[in-house]
Amino acid sequence: MDHARNAGVRLSQLGLYVDNHIHDKYLAPLLTVVTAALLTTWVAPWKAALWAAIELVVIAVYIGVYTRFRRAAPGPQDERLWARRIALAHGAHMVSWSSIIVWGWQPGNFNSLMFTMLIHVGLISLTVAMSNPHRRLLLGDLVPPAVALVAPPLLGGGLFYLGLTMLGLLFIALMLLVGLKIHASTTEALVLRERNAELIRELERQVTRDPLTGLFNRRHFIAAAQAELQRAARYRHPLALLMLDIDHFKPINDTHGHLAGDEVLKAVAGVCAQTVRGEDCLARLGGEEFAVLMPETALAQAFAAAERLRESVAGLRCELPGGTVVPTVSIGVAMCTGPTETLSSFMRRADHAMYAAKAQGRNRVVVEQPAPQGGDMEAAARVA
Ligand code: GH3
Ligand code: MG
Ligand code: MG
Repeated sequence: MDHARNAGVRLSQLGLYVDNHIHDKYLAPLLTVVTAALLTTWVAPWKAALWAAIELVVIAVYIGVYTRFRRAAPGPQDERLWARRIALAHGAHMVSWSSIIVWGWQPGNFNSLMFTMLIHVGLISLTVAMSNPHRRLLLGDLVPPAVALVAPPLLGGGLFYLGLTMLGLLFIALMLLVGLKIHASTTEALVLRERNAELIRELERQVTRDPLTGLFNRRHFIAAAQAELQRAARYRHPLALLMLDIDHFKPINDTHGHLAGDEVLKAVAGVCAQTVRGEDCLARLGGEEFAVLMPETALAQAFAAAERLRESVAGLRCELPGGTVVPTVSIGVAMCTGPTETLSSFMRRADHAMYAAKAQGRNRVVVEQPAPQGGDMEAAARVA
């Protein structure tokens, strides 16, 4: 669980990093053009233009990588791969910016030194503000502008330039500390967010699921059935309800014990879950009683589904310490009659049909009114 949470947090860090940097698509090209224009003051225009062209291509590449990352909506398992791609693409951008010291810095030209240092002070500040969500990318992004900030004054020689170098180093150290501090707070917030999401998921599971079988519980079933009943009545869509009750379950408990009875309940629930469609709502209403709500399902299909369920359960062989148990179920089927139908009348009718199945000998399906002709029903069931 912790590992999954960490992976989720790392992916969120990468997502935040991309969110921060994707705004570069508006600002970075503008900054590049203005910087290149300023460079032409002391650098050959073709050189400034070439630098700007390279930088614009690099910007297009990394914005492309960010856009693909967003579109791909990767899972936590893909975090490493994307972090590597982004490190390469954005790293190229940082190197390209910092290459200004090659294009624009001229030893002995104080203006060019101040200009390149100003550019890199700005770049380091922006990097700390924007790259802080991802520690590794933050550190990688800081390397090129840090080198470019201190290298020119260091090469200048003399006490003043040494002082400028010291100033640059102190600035880098301070910004690094600030960046790591923001990173720690962001990470803490992301961990809390992940933990909250986990708790909410767990809470939702506990509120809606039956702990023994993992099926929906009565509470969820009632809420879902109310909503579905209203929808079906309003749009006059067919809605079927199946009530299932395990036959002679008490003797299973009495013979094999309550725990073994639980195993049979789980096995029956498992086979039912495999048999119903994804859009059906299968729930354990309590004890050894289950219900299946089937939206958009006409009587013939509901009967066929009930038969499939009955046969699947009857095909189960539960190997218990005290011997093999072959459970069966009795199933009652009812169809929603229209706008006057309430959930209690709907469930009562399906229950009546289920009790009729018990009375007729168990391990069978009985349909509540309007009952179709036997032959027709069998034909319909075969078609469904
Ligand atoms: P019928 O065919 O008429 O349905 O007979 P039955 O024995 O299944 O019916 P009855 O309602 O008398 O028995 C239901 C039993 O289910 C009684 C109860 O002890 C058992 N039961 C209810 N909940 C659980 C549970 O969570 N685990 C286990 N093992 N047994 C349960
Ligand atoms: Mg029973
Ligand atoms: Mg019962």
